[in-house]
Amino acid sequence: MMAAYHASRRGNRVVIIDRMRPPGQKIPLSGGGRCNILPLRPVEPSQYVTDSSVNIVKKILLSWPLAEVRAFLSGPMGLKLIDNRKSGKVFPLFGGGEEVRNHMLAVVRQSGVEVRTGSAVVDIQPSQRRNVILENGDSIVAARIILATGGMSYPQTGSDGTGYEIARRLGHSIVDPYPALVSLRGGSPEHHKLAGLSIPVTLSVGKGKSRTSMRGDFLFTHRGYSGPAILNIAHVAARAGEGEDSPTIEVAWSDKTSVEWEEILAPSGKTVRGVLKEVLPDRLADLLLDELALTDARTATLTKGDRKRLIAALVSYPLPWRRTGGWNEAEVTGGGIPLSEIDPRTLRSRIVPQLYFCGEILDAFGPIGGTNFLWAFVTGKLAGEGAASD
Ligand SMILES: Cc1cc2nc3c(=O)[nH]c(=O)nc-3n(C[C@H](O)[C@H](O)[C@H](O)COP(=O)(O)OP(=O)(O)OC[C@H]3O[C@@H](n4cnc5c(N)ncnc54)[C@H](O)[C@@H]3O)c2cc1C
Repeated sequence: MMAAYHASRRGNRVVIIDRMRPPGQKIPLSGGGRCNILPLRPVEPSQYVTDSSVNIVKKILLSWPLAEVRAFLSGPMGLKLIDNRKSGKVFPLFGGGEEVRNHMLAVVRQSGVEVRTGSAVVDIQPSQRRNVILENGDSIVAARIILATGGMSYPQTGSDGTGYEIARRLGHSIVDPYPALVSLRGGSPEHHKLAGLSIPVTLSVGKGKSRTSMRGDFLFTHRGYSGPAILNIAHVAARAGEGEDSPTIEVAWSDKTSVEWEEILAPSGKTVRGVLKEVLPDRLADLLLDELALTDARTATLTKGDRKRLIAALVSYPLPWRRTGGWNEAEVTGGGIPLSEIDPRTLRSRIVPQLYFCGEILDAFGPIGGTNFLWAFVTGKLAGEGAASD
C-alpha cells in the first residue's frame, strides 16, 4: 500500500494485486489487535537482523527517518497516533489495526490506485508483454513490478512464500526463510503450571564472540515460553538447530550476578526459599528449589555443591525448549531476498531491471516494537518512488 501510494503520487497508473480480500490482513492482528504501528524512538540499524550488510539496512532506514514517517502517517495518511512512553511504542489513538488497515486502503484508493483482490500472482515473466500472470488465468502488462508478497508467517493472511519462488525463478538467490519473533515450545508440566507469570530476565545463546544476549520480559505459557525477550532471541536458537540439536538458551532470572547471589545467600538464620522470594516471584522460587531438591534448605547449612548448583540455576538456567511455534506463530519471517541483490536507493533488482522489492520479503527484520511496520513503510516508499522515477 505504501509503495502503491508513492508510485501513484508521481502520476503513474498503479494496480495492487493481492490474493486476499481485503489485503493487509496482518495489520488487524498486529500488536494484539491494537497495531503497534511504529517505535517511539529511532531504532539502531544494528538491531535489525539480516545475513546481508547492516550498512545497507542503515542506508535504507536513513532514507526516511522515523520522525518523517510518523509525520506522513499523521499527515497525508490521516491517522491519529498516541505514544506509550513506558513500552516505547506508538499506536493509533482510535480503534486498532482493522481501522488502520481500512483507513490506509481508503487513502491509497483515493490517490488513484486500483486494488484487485482475490487472485494470486503465480509468475512474473519479464520477457513477455503480458508479464504478471495471475492464478485465474488473467495477465497484466506492467512497465514496473514491485514484489511485496511478505514472508511465510501467518500463511492464512496470504503470505505463503510464493513471492520467494517467483524471485528464485527470475534468478534471485534467497536466504533460507526462518520463523522469527516466535514463541518457544517445551518445558515440563511444572513449567506450564506457571503460565501467565511474566518476569524481566536476561537470555543468552551461544558462546564466545557469537554469544547473543537479550534483556526483557519473559512469559511462561501453557506450552512453553514467550514474551518480548523470547520472541527477540528465538530465531538465534532456532537457526542453530531444533529438537536434539537445539542450542542452550540460558536464563538469568534477575539482574543479580553470581557474586551478588553469593552475598545474598551468605549463611544466616534464613531459609533459602525466604531469601529467593525477596528477589524472585514466589512461584518461580518454588519451582527452582523443587527442581534442585532444595525445598527445605537453609542458607546456613547449604553445602558448597548445592550452593554452586543453586547459583548456576539463578544466573544461567538452561531453558528446556524443544522447538519454535513455527510459521503459524512467527510474527515475521527472517531471510528472503539478499540486500546485496537490490539497489538500496531504489530497491530495484540488480538482476531483473523492471523488478523492485519491499517489506518483509527482503532479508531483514527488526525486534518487537513497531520496527517491522517501519521497515515495510520505509522500503515501500523507496520502492514506489524508485519504480515511478527509474
Ligand atoms: C500476529 C502478528 C502481529 C504483528 N504485530 C506487529 C506490530 O505490532 N508491529 C509491527 O511493526 N509489526 C508487526 N507484525 C509484523 C508486520 O505485520 C509485518 O512485518 C508486515 O505486515 C510486513 O508487511 P509486508 O507488506 O511486507 O507483508 P505482508 O503484510 O505479509 O503482506 C503481503 C501481502 O502479499 C499478499 N500476497 C502474498 N503472496 C501473494 C501472491 N502470490 N499473489 C498475490 N498476493 C500475494 C498477501 O495476501 C499479503 O496481503 C506482526 C505480524 C504478525 C503476524
